[in-house]
Formats: sequence, structure tokens, C-alpha cells
Amino acid sequence: MLVYVATKNAGKLAELQAIFADGPLEMATFADYRDPVEGESSYTENAMIKANALYDQMQRDGIDANVIADDSGLEVAALGGRPGVVTAAYGGEDATWAQRRALLLNELRGVADRRARFVSALHFISAAGVEYTAFGTVEGTIAEHERGVAGFSFDPIFTYPPEQKTFAELDAAQKNAISHRGRAARMLLRQLRTATHPA
Ligand code: IMP
Repeated sequence: MLVYVATKNAGKLAELQAIFADGPLEMATFADYRDPVEGESSYTENAMIKANALYDQMQRDGIDANVIADDSGLEVAALGGRPGVVTAAYGGEDATWAQRRALLLNELRGVADRRARFVSALHFISAAGVEYTAFGTVEGTIAEHERGVAGFSFDPIFTYPPEQKTFAELDAAQKNAISHRGRAARMLLRQLRTATHPA
């Protein structure tokens, strides 16, 4: 089943393609997708806003399509949960990933409590207009220095304690098996399975 992803973020798209590769959902992109203005209150609400924007845009073009959106963020305990829902804007709109990581390491210089977590909300709308929301988190710590080259954005400074490695030191399959996005995706698949094959 083809599913159009409401994102302009190549890292997110690649992850969703890999996460869903073995299942019934095949990820595709719609070139004309434009990110809508997001809210600042919840990941779930923002995922709904993005999925509905793409769904409506495709409907206006006469295309009945399944769509999915991810809204995610990084919550740092010592910063009271910042940057959280507005992680995409951390460091300013034009900041590079490297600048954002440097800014966060700077904010945490000398801070002993390094606890952080990634959060992902996924919102799926079937071509018939039925909506599903799923959620996933992963607990970790912010490293003192960057390590690894895989992944995107904050991956080189997010350490996954059970492996003692940053997300950028894990390969895609390892990250997707434990990541916030991987967990949300598996929750979504369980919901879709239950909806199509009720017990
Ligand atoms: P949004 O969901 O487009 O609002 O953006 C979420 C932001 O959170 C991304 O731009 C990244 O900076 C960060 N983020 C979310 N998931 C990940 C991840 O798996 N690795 C690294 N950074 C992430």
C-alpha cells in the first residue's frame, strides 16, 4: 500500500522508508508538499496538522492517497524539556545541523545531568479518511562530544546507554530497532493490523 510522507526532511524520509520496508506500507513523496505552520503545544497535534495538509493538498489535486506525517523532537531534562516540540526551530531557521549540535553542547557545558529523550508522533490518514496516531520515545543522554557519522541532526550527540554508543554510531537497522520513530511505527502497524483483522 503506497503511503505519501508529509516531510521535506531527507533523514526522516530515509528512516521511514527503512522502518516500513519489510511491511505492507511503501513510503513515497509528493513533490509539491509544502510544510504547514506547526503549533507549539504537542507532537501529536503537529503530526495531525502535517498529515492533514498533505491529505487535503492531494485531494485538491484529485488524488485519493494514504498519507503519513512524523512530528518529533528532543527533550533535555536539564533544560526543562527544551527544545521539545519546537526542536526543528532550535538555533534559528537557518542554522545547520552542526551549529544546532554545537549550541546544545554549549548549553550543557558543565551540566552533570545529561538525560534526554527523543519523541516521535506519527499520524496516518487512509485514502478513505480514517485517522490513526502512534507515539514512541527513547531515553538517552547527551554526550560530551560528537561521535559517529550516521543518521541526521542530533544523532552524533545522543547516546543510547544500553549500547554506550551515539545514534550516529549505530547503523540504520540498529537505530530503527530502538528509536522513537521505530517504536511509533511499530505501534502504528499494530493499530492498522487490528483495524483490518479485528480479533
Ligand atoms: P519536526 O518533526 O520536523 O518538527 O522536526 C523535529 C526535529 O527534531 C528534527 O529537525 C531534528 O532536529 C530532531 N530530531 C527528531 N528525530 C530525530 C532523530 O531521530 N535524530 C536526530 N534528530 C532528530
